[in-house]
Amino acid sequence: MISDLNGKMYIGGTMMAAQSATVAVFDPATGDKIGMVGAATAAEIEAAVSAARAAFGPWSGLPAKARSGYLHRLGDVIAADADAMARLMTLEQGKPVNEARGEILKLAETCHFYAEEAVRIHGETIPNDTNDFDSTVLREPIGVVGAITPWNYPAELVGWKLCGALAAGCTIVIKPAEITPFTALAIGAKCIDAGIPAGVVNVITGPGSEVGQAMVEHKGIDKIAFTGSSKVGLRIQQSATSVKRMALELGGNCPMIVTASADLKAAVAGAARRSFRNCGQICIAINRIYVARPIYESFLIQLAQAADGLRVANGLTDPCADLGPMASAEPLGKTREHLADALSKGARLLAGGAAPQGAEFAKGHFFRPTVLADCTHDMHIMTEETFGPIVGIAPFDTLTEAVALANDTPYGLASYVYSKASDDIRYLSRGLDYGSVAVNTVDAGIINAPYGGRKQSGLGYEHGREGMLEYMNFKHIRVRFDLPEGA
Ligand code: NAP
Ligand code: MG
Repeated sequence: MISDLNGKMYIGGTMMAAQSATVAVFDPATGDKIGMVGAATAAEIEAAVSAARAAFGPWSGLPAKARSGYLHRLGDVIAADADAMARLMTLEQGKPVNEARGEILKLAETCHFYAEEAVRIHGETIPNDTNDFDSTVLREPIGVVGAITPWNYPAELVGWKLCGALAAGCTIVIKPAEITPFTALAIGAKCIDAGIPAGVVNVITGPGSEVGQAMVEHKGIDKIAFTGSSKVGLRIQQSATSVKRMALELGGNCPMIVTASADLKAAVAGAARRSFRNCGQICIAINRIYVARPIYESFLIQLAQAADGLRVANGLTDPCADLGPMASAEPLGKTREHLADALSKGARLLAGGAAPQGAEFAKGHFFRPTVLADCTHDMHIMTEETFGPIVGIAPFDTLTEAVALANDTPYGLASYVYSKASDDIRYLSRGLDYGSVAVNTVDAGIINAPYGGRKQSGLGYEHGREGMLEYMNFKHIRVRFDLPEGA
């Protein structure tokens, strides 16, 4: 599959050779180069935006049912090729093939969800102060969307934007992360197979600081839909040269609270899953855990055992591994820094703390799942997003203290609670200043419900009906009527 996409960009309905295919892409498990993609030139960016602009009128003018049909077909062709797309994702991102396959199938589900939302774009009629007026609110697509996406979920984070935008009637130019461009190009190829008209979807590649920045500043792009770090998100917001709609899905520093009544086994399993899955490279990964003092030591022992039991391996040759390599040297470096900082300030290392041993790990970005106890808020591990397979834990005495610790962060993406006491659950879920609170589960998001961050975790929503309305303008039409003569 890579050979079909190597050095290509998807512009105006054609998979074309990039003018300057200078960006190398590597397998994070072996360090081997797997291909090259283009650094989009000014002419290529212009061609993609022009193609999306030209396609906007016809696409937005289609009956919603027709747009819905295209999205259903896209979901079908993606699901039918899930195995090959999953292997491609593993090759560039590192997550084990089974996990990558799950992500591709969720992308297909997103296509079907928004295919169904597309036919439910209703307006509203609003009563006026007197009966001779009608106020109607229409929902109209914004126009051309520029989507800029990170590398941790190379398919889903493209899909939420692509499907919401297309359902609303928008067209889109996608710029995936430099280190995982092939999954996005593969999605572009599936748009061809699904018969989506030329120009409706375009995929251009290259460095964010150049290609992404040019999209932010481009007058022909009406909205930027960005997922990535808070630092780059703020830069994007500050650097737009004209007023533009923005959705910024940014970083997190997500807490978990385990109360004394919690089902300990379930809490430990949840903590292990959401701290270490995808090597912790998840915006809603659990970064820090606060445990009620009476069960603190038991929780520590069990989570350390769970972490030690996880299998780290090359996810391509070992599709059911628990953890593959990290996606690049950058998040691995930050993981090591946060570990060293916490240990120097008195944290106790209970599991992991190093790369796995063996020749097969020598060239990849591997790291063992790591558990740190007795952490405090003067450690980076408790206050910054690590984006690695490491979690810090601290005890608490009262629920008020637990909420204060959990909210002591500039971020507000997702939070987790394990408890069997309904009063405690109510108190905690109302008190947590986060876009999502997951209780007795660590699967915080579903495609049917809005998902977004507060504070430095961003603005705007993806998923659900809200994730489509983000791509629409409202238009208020107010009409004054006279009674017909003779009536
Ligand atoms: P990143 O460094 O912010 O990059 C995200 C995207 O922005 C990449 O495509 C990047 O391009 C591009 N970019 C970089 N500089 C840019 C600029 N000046 N103008 C326009 N685009 C620019 O984030 P990352 O390291 O890929 O991803 C990890 C971060 O994403 C974490 O903080 C994580 O929490 C966050 N995230 C948030 C969510 C959410 O839903 N809230 C979901 C997943 C991840 P290149 O990389 O190609 O240079
Ligand atoms: Mg980055």
